[in-house]
Amino acid sequence: MALTPYLIFGTGNRNKGIETTRVIAPSGVRLVTLADVPNAIDVVEDGSTFGENARKKACEQARHLREWTLAEDSGICVDYLDGAPGVHSARFALMDRCDNKRNNQLLLEKLEGVPVEKRTAYYACHMVLSDPKGDVKFEVEEYCCGTILFEETGNGGFGYDPLFRPNGYSETFGILSPEIKARISHRAKATRILVPYLVDLVADGTLPMKQFD
Ligand code: IMP
Repeated sequence: MALTPYLIFGTGNRNKGIETTRVIAPSGVRLVTLADVPNAIDVVEDGSTFGENARKKACEQARHLREWTLAEDSGICVDYLDGAPGVHSARFALMDRCDNKRNNQLLLEKLEGVPVEKRTAYYACHMVLSDPKGDVKFEVEEYCCGTILFEETGNGGFGYDPLFRPNGYSETFGILSPEIKARISHRAKATRILVPYLVDLVADGTLPMKQFD
């Protein structure tokens, strides 16, 4: 019977789960997303920074479930818009839910007539690991800088990816491969910094283990 160390990943976003799982793999830790945790709570994301929201999502969920919990808050910050949509990235176009198509349309509208050199932006990802008591054990924030193009290209990634061209590349994350996103994205960089810490938690037997199908 093979036992695998695991963490709760405090997100219902399937794409975040896939991207983070890919990078966390070398630690041997399995991520269990909230889609597979029936008794998870809905944490209200009312913080004014990525850090505040990520800490809430990790610590409140951990305390409720009494489990080691990883969470992240992320978004896109556009320089011409003074950092907007920032922490409001998911609900930029609509107040009550995330609609990626409309978010991208609204971003293009707000940047109408703005030349390419003024369309600089960065993705941010703040990641927090909480112990089962709700105490922060690890925290990191990483970025991926680039440019918002004039139209969507490709359908890879998610969210703003078809509009975002990372620096050093000629295509958007909508076209670039998942392998490239797993090397250079804000989320991948934050996750990679977390991996050695997880390796230590596994080595000293701190993380719980269970059998997965
Ligand atoms: P959160 O669930 O509040 O962290 O929402 C993050 C939002 O930021 C997502 O719904 C997307 O709109 C945007 N976002 C964050 N990371 C990415 C990414 O890697 N690609 C595209 N959009 C992203």
